[in-house]
Amino acid sequence: MNDNNLTVANTDVYSSIFSLLEAGLEAGILESTDRVYAYNRLLACLKLDGSIQPDFQNSQSTTSMTESIAALTAYAIDQKIIEDIFDYREVMAAELMNCLMARPSEINRYFNHLREKSPVVATDWFYQYCQDVHYIQAARISRNISYQAKCEYGTLDITINLSKPEKNPADIAAERNIVRSDYPRCLLCAENEGYRGRAGHPARANHRLISLEDFAGEQWFFQYSPYSYYNEHCIVLSGEHRPMKIDRNTFVRIITFLDLFPHYFVGSNADLPIVGGSILSHDHYQGGRYSFAMDRAPVEKYFRLTAYPGIEAGIVKWPMSVIRLVGSDRQELIDCSEAILFNWRSYNDSTADIQAYTNAEPHNTITPIGRMRDGHYEIDLVLRNNRCTEEHPLGIFHPHDDVHHIKKENIGLIEVMGLAVLPARLVDELAQVAAALTGENAELAEIHRSWTEELVNKYGKDNDYAEASDIVRRETAIKFERVLGDAGVFKRNPEGKAAFTRYITKLASSI
Ligand SMILES: [Zn+2]
Repeated sequence: MNDNNLTVANTDVYSSIFSLLEAGLEAGILESTDRVYAYNRLLACLKLDGSIQPDFQNSQSTTSMTESIAALTAYAIDQKIIEDIFDYREVMAAELMNCLMARPSEINRYFNHLREKSPVVATDWFYQYCQDVHYIQAARISRNISYQAKCEYGTLDITINLSKPEKNPADIAAERNIVRSDYPRCLLCAENEGYRGRAGHPARANHRLISLEDFAGEQWFFQYSPYSYYNEHCIVLSGEHRPMKIDRNTFVRIITFLDLFPHYFVGSNADLPIVGGSILSHDHYQGGRYSFAMDRAPVEKYFRLTAYPGIEAGIVKWPMSVIRLVGSDRQELIDCSEAILFNWRSYNDSTADIQAYTNAEPHNTITPIGRMRDGHYEIDLVLRNNRCTEEHPLGIFHPHDDVHHIKKENIGLIEVMGLAVLPARLVDELAQVAAALTGENAELAEIHRSWTEELVNKYGKDNDYAEASDIVRRETAIKFERVLGDAGVFKRNPEGKAAFTRYITKLASSI
């Protein structure tokens, strides 16, 4: 690059820096006292010498923060400060943003100051902050296709996940060439806070955690999910990198969390493969401010647990098998939840295919979820079993073959509650299914062929495109309801309901 080009690029880069600083002030990320400091940090990131004296009195934000960061990242590539690889662009963008941001201790002080006034005000502020600093990837999340559909068990949420960045061959090659590192040990570890990132590990310079110093006697942290699937999707994680474990402490933590943030629900994935989430290696919970179809599902059958007179217990009308406990006594709820977990861990019912162990390998576990309702604690215990057979090698209580064309991944906490997270391939594939319902002779993925034939028989081929799309959306939600039914240990037919009643009778007599 010759000198002339460098001068032109420099003029642009300085105006982008001034614009970013002003936009940061306007968004409340940066305080004016820290402006010179932030300016100098940005210069350091971009290897600039500060040949332009800042005139803060007269500087303005001419572009949004997103545009300024994009312009500065482009400059860094142009100047060969970074390679033009997805992960390195992310690293640079997060580093630039971090120049404007407060340190974790300041964030925590401010959050705690707000929380003393109101936990709602505190989380509102922090959620907005995490979006403003682009830690929450709002622009990518907005690419997701999300809709709701009324089904037999309520209004389900369907999301086709398009927020994962698409990587080109050069990006993937960069990941392949890196030296493997076990720092941070996983994507959830607290050591991600401020971590620069590298090829294959996300940039976290702009990541901040809220410290929960005495969370049921341990150091835990609260953060938001960078790829939010629902409003204020948060993660509560152990300070220690250790595997997920559902036990008495799980219920202690759920109740402790609800005491801290009564406007949020909180739940945990189960602690066994197949029925657990994607990260079993780091103990964590997910929560947020959102009402799922399962929360709204009513109790269809109440039962009494004489040892726990203060608790209202019942079976929820839901395709999966859910026991709901409602009470206001913390201790009683924790004791009761633990007793049910303990009881379920060893429960067998061969008529319902429920077998607690294969030799020493456990199969029964629980996906627990807690929330406050009308001043009472409400705990949902979703009964799970991860046994596989020759007929169902991926799991007896896992989506079966005939619904794999829609979903074959694990049914984790979020799905359990009624929000389907479906793969990106479905965007094109479902458009082809819709086209078939309009009579168009379109290409069709083989996996959807028999479903499409069913739909054509049911709805004909004379639909206009809007109607056809609507049908496909609705029928996809019905398939998802089937997916949940497959994951339910007690089926919604008379035999399954009788088996559930048998279990409750046994439970009530033994705890
Ligand atoms: Zn970890």
